Amino acid sequence: MSLIKLEKVTKVYRTGEVPVTALKEINLEIGTRAFVSFIGPSGSGKTTLLNLMGVLDKPTDGKLLINDVNIVLLDRAEAAEFRANTLGFVFQNFNLIPVLTVYENVEYPLLLVKRVPARERRERIFTLLEKVGMIDQKDKYPNQISGGQKQRVAVARALVTNPQVVLADEPTANLDHATAFKVIAIMHEMQRDLGTTFIFSTHDPKIVGEAEILYTLEDGALVNQEITKRN
Ligand code: ADP
Ligand code: MG
Repeated sequence: MSLIKLEKVTKVYRTGEVPVTALKEINLEIGTRAFVSFIGPSGSGKTTLLNLMGVLDKPTDGKLLINDVNIVLLDRAEAAEFRANTLGFVFQNFNLIPVLTVYENVEYPLLLVKRVPARERRERIFTLLEKVGMIDQKDKYPNQISGGQKQRVAVARALVTNPQVVLADEPTANLDHATAFKVIAIMHEMQRDLGTTFIFSTHDPKIVGEAEILYTLEDGALVNQEITKRN
C-alpha cells in the first residue's frame, strides 16, 4: 500500500487577477519509510505541493490519498486532527510561536495530541533539543536566536510527536554544512528506527544527494523522477 498517492492533482490559485496554475496533473506515489526530495526552481510548485500533502490546502482538481484516506473530503476539524496525529512540519519560514520559549515551541505539538504523559513529553523534548544542539538555548524566545537556530528548533518540533510523515520545506536552507548534515542524520535515524517517511523540498546541493527518490518540478509539472544510489 502506498502511504501517499496523488492522482492528477492540480492546483490553481485564484487570489490575484490572473489565475495561477501552480501544479498541473501531478501523479505520484510515496511509500512508507521513504526519503523523498522535491527540487526545482523558485516558483515551480514545491511549497504548494508540500502544503497539499500536509493537508493545509486542498487541490483544485484530482485525488490525494494518505493512508487510503481521501484528504480532499476532510472538513477543517478532521483535517486538523489528521495533521496533529500523522504529520510533522518544518515550514520554510519556521513559524515558531514568538511568545513561547524554544522548549515550549517543541512541546506544543505534543500538547495537541494529548496522549503523551508529562514525563515522556519532557524526555522527548530534551532528547530532540540535544540532538539538534539547542538544549542550552531552551529558555530563549525565537527573537533571541539566529535563523539557523530557529531552523533547528523547527526540526525538533516537527519530529517530537514521532509522526508517520514529516514534511519539510527547504529544511537546511539556513544551516551551515555541519548542522545541515546533523539534521539529515537525525532524519535518517528516525526513518530507520521508526519507519518515518521524510518528504522535503530543497535547493541545497549538499543535501540533494541524501534523498532516495528525487522528483523534479518545473512550472508546476513533474518532469523527472530519479532513484538515487542511497536507496
Ligand atoms: P516554490 O515553493 O517551488 O517556490 P510555490 O509553490 O511557492 O513554488 O509557487 C508556485 C506558483 O504558485 C508560483 O507561481 C507562485 O507565485 C504561485 N503561488 C504560490 N502561493 C500562492 C498564493 N497563495 N496565491 C497565489 N499564487 C500563489
Ligand atoms: Mg517554496
